[in-house]
Amino acid sequence: EPANRDGWQKHFLRAKRDDAKQSIELILLRGGGAVFNAHLDCLRIAAGGDAAPMLRIALTDITGRKRADEELRIAAIAFESQEGMIVTDPKGVIIRVNRAFTRMTGYEAAEAVGQTPTLLKSGRHEPEFYRRMWQAMKEKGYWQGEMWNRRKNGKVYAEWLTISAVAAPDGTVTHYVGTFSEITQNKEAEAKIHRLAYYDSLTHLPNRRLLHDRIGQAMAGSSRSGHCGALLFLDLDDFKTLNDTLGHDFGDRLLVETARRILANVRAGDTVARLGGDEFVVLLEDLSADAGEAAIQARLVGEKIREALAEPHDLDGFEYHGSASIGVGLFHNHDEPVETLLKHADLAMYKAKGAGRNALRFFDPAMQTALDERGALEADLRLALKRGQLHLYYQAQVDGAHRVIGAEALLRWAHPERGLVPPGDFIPLAEETGLILPIGLWVLETACARIKAWSSSAATRDLRLAVNVSARQFRQPEFVDQVRQVLAQTGADPSRLKIELTESMVLDDVEGTIGKMNALKQIGVGFSMDDFGTGYSSLSYLTRLPLDQLKIDRSFIFNLPDNSRDAVIAQTIITMARSLGLDVIAEGVETEAQQAFLDRHNCHAFQGYLFARPLPVEEFERYCAAAR
Ligand code: C2E
Ligand code: MG
Ligand code: MG
Repeated sequence: EPANRDGWQKHFLRAKRDDAKQSIELILLRGGGAVFNAHLDCLRIAAGGDAAPMLRIALTDITGRKRADEELRIAAIAFESQEGMIVTDPKGVIIRVNRAFTRMTGYEAAEAVGQTPTLLKSGRHEPEFYRRMWQAMKEKGYWQGEMWNRRKNGKVYAEWLTISAVAAPDGTVTHYVGTFSEITQNKEAEAKIHRLAYYDSLTHLPNRRLLHDRIGQAMAGSSRSGHCGALLFLDLDDFKTLNDTLGHDFGDRLLVETARRILANVRAGDTVARLGGDEFVVLLEDLSADAGEAAIQARLVGEKIREALAEPHDLDGFEYHGSASIGVGLFHNHDEPVETLLKHADLAMYKAKGAGRNALRFFDPAMQTALDERGALEADLRLALKRGQLHLYYQAQVDGAHRVIGAEALLRWAHPERGLVPPGDFIPLAEETGLILPIGLWVLETACARIKAWSSSAATRDLRLAVNVSARQFRQPEFVDQVRQVLAQTGADPSRLKIELTESMVLDDVEGTIGKMNALKQIGVGFSMDDFGTGYSSLSYLTRLPLDQLKIDRSFIFNLPDNSRDAVIAQTIITMARSLGLDVIAEGVETEAQQAFLDRHNCHAFQGYLFARPLPVEEFERYCAAAR
């Protein structure tokens, strides 16, 4: 039963008429209903005599052949796809390429056929890469991956390549077929993303992230090889000032130039990174296995960099003299977190800054111990207020007749294990951590409450109480309000309160200081300039401050009266105070001779061990009662 009855019938009619053999391809149905391709040959055979001629019909099932043709046609279309294709013989000699191949590589088919794919070699891959590729081909029959190749015009491009081996039924390879598509654009985008993620856009140096990776690798390398490595932490001195005064443009150019100078002084394999701002880190690897020698090597590189950065910079004809402080941390075998290593070098850098800048310092474990100690102290200090471990001691201030005229409130920390901690040991820490704010407020409240309490006793009602205020505390915009509030809350007489300032505090912001002092002066609060003579005393600002008193620093008192230099300074301060109409008091008076000298030179107020040490409140009050 033919599927196309028309064709079939026409064919028969023609066969009956014609002598020639008639051939046709038909789609026929089998008994079961399945379709198949058939080839039909019809031949008219004369039967002899009048007998009707016979038709000899030969029917061949050509379904298999048809399918093979079809596949070939599809294959031919597929071969001319958008992907580049190469077919080679088992030896790798190219026997066919497609048009996409020509478009991508620039080689015409005629140029490629007969060659091997090494024609396209970019030189970007190690022999190892090709060896692995062939290994995979042998084992799995195919390979896939990224490959850099070179076009006829010399340009290198990236492609995604799949190679398959075509094998005969017995397993021997008859051909290799390679298909590839270009991925250069993806690669470039990828590279750009990589650059953004791992490099600093200003200096093109590795950034913190990449540095972390590199340090991690370097540490692993160090444990394998036994060699030391070093981290150099660099921070430009006064960079902020340059940026603020000359502008970011100059700042940026200085940073770029800094990067260039650092790079010029390290080996090609060393990593130079920019952490951000004006901070750079140099990672040195493969130093000596001996830590002492490695330190010398690292110092050498560091010093070279330091000197290079201290050379003047030409910024648009303007000669800028910069410098850098460098901290060095060594690593050797140990498995420390990368952050810790960086912190060590950073700490050493701060030590270099502390040493006057333009210097190089090493991190040493003692530094770490001090750091840990500090951390513990800080944690304790946070709790000190809450746990009532802070106390105010009172040190008497007396006149020439040894009458108590006032007192200075001095902070003490009764630490459960350390005992009585002097303020010099924890006030700087409190300043840095900001803990000074709640502590300072507590001091103010406690002192004012004491003034109020003293007002009801004849022995103490005329005393003025001096309170030390730290720079950070005084700098708060709400400081004046705070003092007013505390005075109001405690009901203390403002004229009994004297605030001690230091010169450095004032210099931070002369105008602001004058404003605050005047505001408090209006309600009766007095001011004394503490540690006078140790700072950058300048007559110009001194005359503008609404002060009541200068307090001669105890360092000038200590060697009185024998040291003539100190004697001159003490006298000068007294004269200056008198001519400015200010009171003057000497602190740290320990001997009769000191007191006599001061008395002779017109200073009649004293504070010191000669009269009384700083005392707990009850003892101080007993002392006052006894001194009357
Ligand atoms: P300062 O204000 O100059 O206090 C005077 C320091 O000299 C006190 O040390 C006192 O004990 C000490 N002193 C007094 N008489 C003599 C003496 O005859 N000989 C010697 N060698 N020293 C004497 P202290 O109590 O250790 O306080 C040190 C510093 O801590 C104070 O210096 C002050 O700057 C600061 N301080 C103390 N209490 C507070 C506070 O409540 N707040 C703030 N911000 N700072 C405070
Ligand atoms: Mg003081
Ligand atoms: Mg003082």
